[in-house]
Amino acid sequence: MDMTDLAQRVSAGERRALARAITLVESGREDHRAQAAELLAALPQDRQAVRIGLSGTPGVGKSTFIESFGMMLIARGLRVAVLAVDPSSSRSGGSILGDKTRMDLLSRETNAFIRPSPSQTHLGGVARRTREAVRLCEAAGFDVVLIETVGVGQSETVVAEMADLFLLLLAPAGGDELQGVKRGIMEMADIILVNKADGDLKPVAVRTCADYSGALRLLRKRAQDPEGYPCAMTVSALEEDGLAEAWERMEALIGWRREQGFWEKTREAQARYWFNEDVKQRLLAQLYHPEARVALAALSDQVAAGEADPSSAAQHFVDGLKG
Ligand code: GDP
Repeated sequence: MDMTDLAQRVSAGERRALARAITLVESGREDHRAQAAELLAALPQDRQAVRIGLSGTPGVGKSTFIESFGMMLIARGLRVAVLAVDPSSSRSGGSILGDKTRMDLLSRETNAFIRPSPSQTHLGGVARRTREAVRLCEAAGFDVVLIETVGVGQSETVVAEMADLFLLLLAPAGGDELQGVKRGIMEMADIILVNKADGDLKPVAVRTCADYSGALRLLRKRAQDPEGYPCAMTVSALEEDGLAEAWERMEALIGWRREQGFWEKTREAQARYWFNEDVKQRLLAQLYHPEARVALAALSDQVAAGEADPSSAAQHFVDGLKG
């Protein structure tokens, strides 16, 4: 496979080429990794999409929201890609996010691209694959890349570290629900969307939204936020209500961050973050190499037997890795 050719077809916006390129970056095979590196290097560097992270527990309405919101963006002439970070998918025997069947209308749009999450347990691997898939979508000329995740473990952090904006989708609920959302997740949110604000649920949604607005005001002010952000608002993904307002708020935030230089600064900080993560991953991989394991076990026995002290044995082991 010629990577220059594939890169050209991806940047021409060919969906099949994009799908193939993503399959390549999802592969863990060493020869595929080398090809993926070549591919990524051959992509145009000057295209940026708005990367939007979206998190919410199962059933809150993520796929309904993505479908309605995505269709609205497409009606405005934008091209929309949907990716998913789903570290638990292998447990359920397949992907539960980014499933095409859940986004029926959107998946039939030529200006949309939906990619189900790769089945992979290792979050580090999922992060790299998703990050590279985002790059590919940007190179393919998508204007908006939605990165979806369920609120499990560290997956929000992974998404927040590769997104320009982070949306938290919540359900309308009674007063004590507020405590149920982890503070760490709330701190990542730029906009909290209380979904299902329709029918009988509307008053509860409005109250829930007010509770979250209050909670957000108590959080430490972040440099990258203009006045009034982070904010909470109600939407109905089902009735397509509040979606235009949500997009307006996102655009206002993006505009401000671009003007103030936070857009670029955040992307730079994210690049540094992923570089550091990748270094750690590679070092850990060395640690779990079969030969390293044997050396580690032998040294560990020596330490246990008092034949070597822990620190010099560790130094010996690390020196061995370098060689
Ligand atoms: P996900 O698991 O987060 O992707 O949630 P889904 O999008 O599959 O939605 C779960 C359920 O909530 C479905 O039965 C949807 O029809 C329903 N739902 C989603 N959005 C809304 C909404 O805005 N209003 C109402 N009333 N129901 C909704």
